[in-house]
Amino acid sequence: MGAMSTQPHAHLGPDPHEATRPIDERPTRIRVDLERLGHNLRAIRSHVGVPVMGIVKANAYGHGLVQVARHLQAEGVEQLGVAFVEEGIALRRAGIDVPILVLGGIFGHQVGRFIAHDLEITVSSLDKLRQVESAAEAMGRKAVIHLKVDTGMERIGVHSYSAGPFIEAAVASDWCVLKGVYSHLACADDPGSPMTARQVERFAEACAHFTRIGAPMPIRHLANSGGVLHFPDTWLDMVRPGIVLYGVLPDPASRPAIAVQPAMSLVSQVVYFKVVKAGHGVSYGATWVAPRDTRVVTVPIGYGDGFPRALSSRGEVLIRGRRHPIVGRVCMDQFMVDIGDGSAWNEDEVVLVGAQGGEGISVEGVAVQAGTVPYEILVGLNERIPRDYRGGASVPVGVP
Ligand SMILES: *Cc1c(COP(=O)(O)O)cnc(C)c1O
Repeated sequence: MGAMSTQPHAHLGPDPHEATRPIDERPTRIRVDLERLGHNLRAIRSHVGVPVMGIVKANAYGHGLVQVARHLQAEGVEQLGVAFVEEGIALRRAGIDVPILVLGGIFGHQVGRFIAHDLEITVSSLDKLRQVESAAEAMGRKAVIHLKVDTGMERIGVHSYSAGPFIEAAVASDWCVLKGVYSHLACADDPGSPMTARQVERFAEACAHFTRIGAPMPIRHLANSGGVLHFPDTWLDMVRPGIVLYGVLPDPASRPAIAVQPAMSLVSQVVYFKVVKAGHGVSYGATWVAPRDTRVVTVPIGYGDGFPRALSSRGEVLIRGRRHPIVGRVCMDQFMVDIGDGSAWNEDEVVLVGAQGGEGISVEGVAVQAGTVPYEILVGLNERIPRDYRGGASVPVGVP
């Protein structure tokens, strides 16, 4: 105890390192391989041959908004896309200076914040166009906008069959710079769906109006990951991949047209080992009962971290290069794994997503077991899990 004077004691005031020390004592980690992210961006770009708007909404699909955006910018991504204005502002505050489009619908009172932070606005109706114009005029600064045309998603946007007056008003606007026009695909994750061709056609009809009225064609963009993977007709002037950028497929059953690599793995460590006697139940509700005397380990991550409770007695993990089942209900902060007659020690690595030995667990596979889509697995993993980054030029947030 020779270092008494450096110990944080109440009477010495607050620990001077507390604010800068990362709170990352737990061994549970999301590992993000930025090298793979860069590889995926390059693979997508050379596949489609047009500029890429990298979609980084929802904390970059759980991979970390600022770190991912910084790396994509370093890799020369042409544009970024987020869902909400707050996400765009966070990127600007982190020094990201590539063009950023906010994809979501806007509220009139937010327009000033878009303009002040140099964020491009999705305009999805004539009313919203008027709101943007009056805010821009009041600030004396033009707004950069992308028109949203609805070709079948029925989410936001002016229906393609009545887009004429909307397009004319935007073209004539004194306070808007019309940079893009876009739509969103509803079924592109299914290569066999006829819906995508229909949407491509409706979008082309709407865009033809620019030519009809003699206005320059703005940047046309339509393709999400499904479009990038399966429908060359959707690539147009720019693509908007999200999930495939992270190396995960929108539809687990589809075969990838591009060799992407998953950027995320999720690991933890064994925190407890015991033998459960035959006939004894494990976890809340005792829904799983040991069929024989068996070895069970405890892993310190749960649904409080966004690890799905739906994986109760369904999911699997890797320990010492072997696949073992999750048994009993996933708790808020822990779950149990039956390793049978296998061996495991405290602090052994547990892989929940990723590779170990010759085995692997994919996000797509976890999604199937949890009865959901890979998107929900990725974005569900929350801020309670520390992220480690490797392979990038990107410096940690907060380090000058
Ligand atoms: C989320 C989103 C995307 C990206 O979708 P992925 O399926 O992840 O590629 C593209 N465009 C819009 C409008 C979106 O909301």
